[in-house]
Amino acid sequence: MSYHMTQVFTGHGCFSKFLHRIGKKEDTSCFFCGEEDDAIHTIRDCPMWDPQRIDLKRKLGLARDFTLGDIVESIVGSRDLWSAFSAFVQEAMREKEEEEKRLERERARVFSSSSIGDDEFGLRSTTAR
Ligand SMILES: [Zn+2]
Repeated sequence: MSYHMTQVFTGHGCFSKFLHRIGKKEDTSCFFCGEEDDAIHTIRDCPMWDPQRIDLKRKLGLARDFTLGDIVESIVGSRDLWSAFSAFVQEAMREKEEEEKRLERERARVFSSSSIGDDEFGLRSTTAR
């Protein structure tokens, strides 16, 4: 079980609902589509990974409203299906983590530029020249 697979099955990972609960995000909305974001949203509902999901659902034989339980049932018996799901999860979670980091950097930048006063900023740019 990979790091990202564990995140999906425990719900403890880069999901807005979870990040919000532990105080790392202001709201529970998805980075990409704005819907409430948790593990099943990422795996089943988020339009961000629609193209990859079509392939995954066909391989694993999943219904439209599949659950995490259906996935487990489908992948435990097959190394191929396990890796297909693992690859999907890895790609999706990496993109989410990238986006989370990007937003964090953006917040840090806004915060640091607003905390520097005009005078201080002017002084800094003068000494830099
Ligand atoms: Zn989404």
